Amino acid sequence: MNPWEVMDILRERGAVEKGHFRLSSGLHSDTYVQCAKVLQYPHLAESLADAIASAFRDDPVDLVASPALGAVILGYMVALSLGKRMIFAERVNDRLTFRRGLRVEKGERVLLVEDVITTGGSLKEMMELVNGKGGEVWGIGALIERGEGEDFGVKKKTLVQLKAKVWRPEECPLCAQGQPLEVPGSRGLA
Ligand SMILES: [Zn+2]
Repeated sequence: MNPWEVMDILRERGAVEKGHFRLSSGLHSDTYVQCAKVLQYPHLAESLADAIASAFRDDPVDLVASPALGAVILGYMVALSLGKRMIFAERVNDRLTFRRGLRVEKGERVLLVEDVITTGGSLKEMMELVNGKGGEVWGIGALIERGEGEDFGVKKKTLVQLKAKVWRPEECPLCAQGQPLEVPGSRGLA
């Protein structure tokens, strides 16, 4: 699946919104991608997950891990495609933590799956979490990465590189124009 096909799927389901948004990273943007609008259709989630999984099919990955909540559906479908187990981390007191008996065992190789990478903050936190449990982060898979693409020091497969502009709040031209700010998405903000 090439990036244009992925963008077509996102647009057809109304997942790409234009306006003035505060992203979960705290940055502002004129574009927001609401992955849930696509992932609510299991057959589309399956196709997108297969496209991510195909990059790791020959890799020695033991399990998939995602940060809750947005990335869980995608991570779960990637794990299904790879025939591996899947765990997720939840934010407790603003720190990502494995709960409910979900764990990474020492030496296990982990594929991290995220829906949208903006600053990579959640992924870096996931990497620390997995490393702290004695696991090894083998790679990163994501539906969308905003900006130029971050180097996490591991294999990475992103289906779409989204070149939409992001700004720090104090430099945001939409704020300067007085456009109302919308706060969609994660971290308890919507
Ligand atoms: Zn703004």
